[in-house]
Amino acid sequence: MTEPQGGVDVSGFGTTAVRDGDEWVVNGWKFFSSNARYAGFCIVMAYTDKAAWPHKGMSMFLVPTDTPGLTIERDLALIHEPADEGSEAYIHYDDVRVPATALLGEEGRAFEVAQVRLGGGRVHHAMRTVGLAQRALDMMCERALSRTARGTALAERETVQSYIAESYAQLTQFRLFVLRTAWLIDETQDHARCRKDISAVKFLTPKVLHDIVQRAIQVHGALGVTQDTPLARMWVTAPVMGLVDGPTEVHLRQVARQPLKEYEPSDSGWPTTSRRALKRPARSSASPEPEPGPVPRSKRVQSPPVRDPTVNPSKKTAGTSDTAAGEPLPPLRLTPDHWAGLTPDRPAVIVPGGPVPTYGQLARSWHSLGLAGGDRVAIVMENRVEYLIAAGTSTRTRSG
Ligand SMILES: Cc1cc2nc3c(=O)[nH]c(=O)nc-3n(C[C@H](O)[C@H](O)[C@H](O)COP(=O)(O)OP(=O)(O)OC[C@H]3O[C@@H](n4cnc5c(N)ncnc54)[C@H](O)[C@@H]3O)c2cc1C
Repeated sequence: MTEPQGGVDVSGFGTTAVRDGDEWVVNGWKFFSSNARYAGFCIVMAYTDKAAWPHKGMSMFLVPTDTPGLTIERDLALIHEPADEGSEAYIHYDDVRVPATALLGEEGRAFEVAQVRLGGGRVHHAMRTVGLAQRALDMMCERALSRTARGTALAERETVQSYIAESYAQLTQFRLFVLRTAWLIDETQDHARCRKDISAVKFLTPKVLHDIVQRAIQVHGALGVTQDTPLARMWVTAPVMGLVDGPTEVHLRQVARQPLKEYEPSDSGWPTTSRRALKRPARSSASPEPEPGPVPRSKRVQSPPVRDPTVNPSKKTAGTSDTAAGEPLPPLRLTPDHWAGLTPDRPAVIVPGGPVPTYGQLARSWHSLGLAGGDRVAIVMENRVEYLIAAGTSTRTRSG
């Protein structure tokens, strides 16, 4: 994909493929075609319709590396590679002719083809990083126990202990996030639907690797920055992870876009959670004292301002729920089958329609919903999961 004048910005791409009888003729330059010098073929993205929007006008081609006109002009070396043994090819395609069958996927669908590789590839980078970071943590612990300073093992020093503790916590969080993302991909078989989580693990990858390896190097002292241990090599992998398959900034934007789509600005200009905007309903004997502390979104059912749901019914503000005060929700369109997919061991109980119960109401009335200890409850607002409560025991359920 990548070209000298276009990486993130695909509108800068200039490589073209023009149909000529039973062949395609490819012309252009490609950059960072990893390991092309070892490869039997390249997968080349090229414009087949320059007039179209880039995401509709480009196609993918399989081009054998021994095709006349394909020249690897240079092999750029990464930081850790010897300068004359680089792996990142700069390739010139000069009237390269391939048969019509070299088209990969459908014409104009290059980005869909690319996503098949990129989605899995990004999670794969994260998985590899789990392994690298675990190795760095293993090395840090061994060194901390083995090396003494002023007669005390490094492991006895509080700063070193905090390096180890933070690394362990950071790695465990990351490992679980990666595992969950891989599980989501398995469940949905659809990378596009998992894009938010794939991008999230991708932007965490360089930071987790950098932080843990940096601490491991520090504990190893001077030895840590030599080539006698794998730590220095791991360390330079971190910035690579922040670029390959899309830079961190692009993945941050991708993740932020998704939750932002579900909200809209407060009409009044005041935060909808501010005391000024939040008019609490009059208390009656039937409605018990509100609990102190932050108000969960489900408890803000009656908070103004309530927007006209016909204007943009799918959007929310922080302080309003999907219903106007007490109005019933439209019937849910989700089916028990859908939830069976989410909780395959036991389909969730669904309470369709009706006013959205608050957290407190749910805790008080769980038994009237026909729930038993161990049931899972999915509260859905406008077909979106608000809360998923895995109730292990009836005691936990009662306490909300
Ligand atoms: C080791 C390695 C292997 C690679 N292998 C391949 C490969 O096999 N095939 C391939 O096609 N490509 C490959 N790449 C290229 C990689 O996909 C690109 O580096 C990446 O897409 C970024 O493009 P660029 O380097 O041209 O950066 P640019 O597009 O020039 O961006 C430079 C920087 O600008 C900032 N930036 C750019 N756009 C935005 C934005 N929208 N918002 C905020 N900030 C922005 C970011 O900080 C970004 O890092 C590889 C890269 C590396 C490092």
